Amino acid sequence: MEIPNRELFGPGPTNVPNSVLQALSQPTIGHLDPEFLKLMDEVGDKTKYSFQTENALTFVLSAPGSIGMETSFVNIVEPGDKVITCINGVFGGRMQAICQKIGASVVTIENEWGTPVDVEQLAETLQQHPDAKIVAFVHAETSTGVRSDAQAIAALARQNDCLVVADCVTSLAGVELRVDDWGLDVAYSGSQKCLSCVPGLSPITFSQKAVDTIKRRKTPVVSWFCDVSLLMSYYESGEKTRAYHHTAPVNSLYAINEALSLVVDETLESRWLRHQDAANHLYSKLEAAGLEMLVVPEHRLAPLTLVRIPDGVDDAAVRGSLLANRNIELGGGLGKFAGEAWRIGLMGQNASVDRADFISDALIAELGKR
Ligand SMILES: *Cc1c(COP(=O)(O)O)cnc(C)c1O
Repeated sequence: MEIPNRELFGPGPTNVPNSVLQALSQPTIGHLDPEFLKLMDEVGDKTKYSFQTENALTFVLSAPGSIGMETSFVNIVEPGDKVITCINGVFGGRMQAICQKIGASVVTIENEWGTPVDVEQLAETLQQHPDAKIVAFVHAETSTGVRSDAQAIAALARQNDCLVVADCVTSLAGVELRVDDWGLDVAYSGSQKCLSCVPGLSPITFSQKAVDTIKRRKTPVVSWFCDVSLLMSYYESGEKTRAYHHTAPVNSLYAINEALSLVVDETLESRWLRHQDAANHLYSKLEAAGLEMLVVPEHRLAPLTLVRIPDGVDDAAVRGSLLANRNIELGGGLGKFAGEAWRIGLMGQNASVDRADFISDALIAELGKR
């Protein structure tokens, strides 16, 4: 089947660089082949750089971003543990759902969609719940295009002796993220957003404090595939020989190794700036055309922008025509924002002023037809 070559400006996947696709199409080898194990070590090192961490337990899970979320909670949380989940969009809601399934005592902070996690409200909640063990939040809410202040949230959580779990799916390699400096205990991401890799992988990292928490568990982890202590038999390098846990998606790991190399070569600082420059250009072009951004400037998430759908404009017709006539994928609104906003991703390879021009010109032309 021939696959069309789309321009991907939704919430991910984004377009994948040719060098990453070429890496992917190299010959498949065994997942315990010494050459492949070498590649895994390289992937681990570059993943540490991308997260800005020295955490030994840093690796890439064999499934999309959602498995990063699930793996974080099933390992850290035990039934009855008090978890504060911060919800300001779809993905915070999923954190809450997973913790409830585990049988945690879940305390929720809810903030208006389109606004960040309210740090003062978190401070009050922590005061009311001194027995809380974990604070979980989404750094970059892809459903609303909002960036929360991860550094402030983590500092507050740690003052109250809580572990910090951060969803960094749309922030890794797109906006400033410093796992060690900020004190995030568990952070996970996805391959198909600002890393510009193929979908299906989830980089993840655990601090020593998180590892100690897992070691002290009183109840077993209620998952086989996501149990970190079992996964380690495969991922942990060093004296012990690696043993089979599951068959790693070897070709996808060739791809993420190349995608991470592109991050290392560019440097994170340049990459963060590139995402911000592209987003600034997008805002000014769209605003000049009379379109309205949904999030106030100081809380906008550069890789993903929410644009209000003008009154009387048919959401599905615009996105349908962009796809059919221009090969462009634009993101629709998610959850409460369905039908109300478009989501424009400028992630990874697409985070450039040129690409911002391209998508804003196309959208403005499409609206001009109506
Ligand atoms: C995309 C996304 C996820 C889920 O990732 P999948 O790869 O779709 O499983 C989780 N959290 C956030 C913030 C996301 O943007």
